[in-house]
Order: sequence, then structure tokens, then C-alpha cells
Amino acid sequence: MDGRGHSGYLGPVAFALFLALLLVFSAPGSPLASLVPTFAARPAAPALPGEAEVRALAETWPGRIAEAAVRDGEWMLRVDDTWFAWANGRLLPEAERGRWEEFVSLSFYRYPLKLPPLAVVDEETSARLRERVRENERNPPQRNDAFLGLLLRAASRAETEARIMKMEVAGYTVSVHEDIAGPLALVSDELRALKASNPEVAAFLRGLVEMNGYNYRFVDSTRTRSYHSYGLAVDLIPRSYGGRHPYWRWAIEKESDWWAVPYARRWMVPTPVVEAFERHGFVWGGKWLFFDTMHFEYRPEVLRLARNAAAEAAAAAAVGEGPGPDS
Ligand SMILES: [Zn+2]
Repeated sequence: MDGRGHSGYLGPVAFALFLALLLVFSAPGSPLASLVPTFAARPAAPALPGEAEVRALAETWPGRIAEAAVRDGEWMLRVDDTWFAWANGRLLPEAERGRWEEFVSLSFYRYPLKLPPLAVVDEETSARLRERVRENERNPPQRNDAFLGLLLRAASRAETEARIMKMEVAGYTVSVHEDIAGPLALVSDELRALKASNPEVAAFLRGLVEMNGYNYRFVDSTRTRSYHSYGLAVDLIPRSYGGRHPYWRWAIEKESDWWAVPYARRWMVPTPVVEAFERHGFVWGGKWLFFDTMHFEYRPEVLRLARNAAAEAAAAAAVGEGPGPDS
């Protein structure tokens, strides 16, 4: 894939993730739909927005996030000496939290742990989606990058590149942020083991030409950086897509309803490979409504939220199966 095509979509993707969440939740029969009542039925704890997300971030970035606390009526995180406010998901420096409407959020979405059924998109929603894609191209949304910049000690290009290192992943060389070298090495170990035991995975890995990680760029003319620009994303590039679609933006030229392209006509990554990445904190773009099947990015907090929700649902189900009071 070319870098340009892969960098200009972060805005739409952020929106897409939000929309995918809504769609996944509302789709009848969606395995996630059953999780909604579980959340709603939680004891009426003091529900300040962002608590679950802020806690998930603090738990999954323990080396960088020193504490999470409610300050001045809002959940906040401290990185080094700077407090970042939840600010409706924008994670803004405390002093700037009132400016949240100027930015898009960091996109905390309900990530499906299993490959979800294709989203059901009605006519009204599809019209909204198309309009949103057009609007995003005219006026790309902007994320406030202060939080990621400090979290990753990668506020500028020079600072970022001081953190970028080359490593080998299942036989391919890739440049990534040093903070994900550990998790990615564990993914690599799993891929090597799978290569020896699973012929489908072995064929898949042999069919790749490269893995692309760090790539410093902004999304179009904004100052919003893609996850590749922090060295937090890895693309698995095959020798050939076999006539299948890997990326919604490329698919749209032939398939205006890109969300309805069946999985059988998308370039897919074998499930054991996806699960190996997920186990170590990487989400797969193949599960997004605005799909990007070659793309993995390090979002351990998103996976933590997904696993917490699944555990709560399982616990609620277990309670329901217990004996009655007269037993
Ligand atoms: Zn990518």
C-alpha cells in the first residue's frame, strides 16, 4: 500500500470506529448487543464519564501513566508532571480541557474479540456515512496530540525517531516505537510457533513481502498524526491481494457500499495470526467498519476494555445460572 493512501484516513477512521461501535451495539443478533444491558445494570456507582477508559489506560501503560484520579470533578491521568483530563475522550492537558470541541476523541470503541458479523447499514445510515466521508475529506478532523506525544515521548519528529528501533518479526524487519518492542517480540514468538504447527499460517506468512511500521506523517493538512507516525502500527503487506479488498478506501472505487463487501471478498488475515497480535495488545483493522485488513495497531487499553466487558457479561451469566433461594 502507498503511504499517502494510508495516512489520510485517520480522521474518517476515528469517526468510523465510533460509528462501528454504535452499529455493532445496535445490530440485532450482534454478540456484543448482549453486553449493553450488563453495563446498564451495573450498580449505580458515581458515574463520572471516562472512568473505565482512564483506568484501562493506566493499567495498560503502567510505565508511563503514574496515576489516575478524579480532579476538579473529572477523571484525569498523570504522565510525568502533566495531568490530562478525560475531556469527553479528547485527553487534553488539564488547562485546555474546555477546548474539547475543537478535537476528535482518541476513539475508545468496543472492539469485538471475535470477528463480528458485517454491520447492518440501513439507507439513512449509509447516506450519513457517505456524507461523513465527504465532509472529512473537505475538513479533516483533528486530534490533540499532546497526550500521545508525552505518553510516547514522541512529540516531535526528532523526539519520535530517537525512540524508533528496528526489530525482526517472524522473519521480517520492521521499525517501531521502542515501547512496543516487548509486546511485538511476543507476537513474533507466537507467529514462529504457528508457522511450524499451522500450514495456513505458514502459507500466509510466506506470502508476505514486508511489514511496514514507523512512517512519520500527518493526516492531510492537519496536525493529526497516524498511529504509524508514532511507530505504534504495523502493516502486513502480501505479495498479492488475490483480487480481494484490503482497505475500504481502495474498495470504494468499485464497491460504493464498502461496509457490505463480504469477508470472502476481502483480503483477510488468518484468525490465529489476529489472535496472536490481540493477545499482546494489538487491535486488527480488519474488524473495523472502515476496514483496513493489513493494519494492526497497539491499543492495549481498547483490548482491556473489551475483555473487561466480556468478563462482566460472563459473570452476569454465571449468576443467572446459580441455584434459587429454595435450593
Ligand atoms: Zn496501517
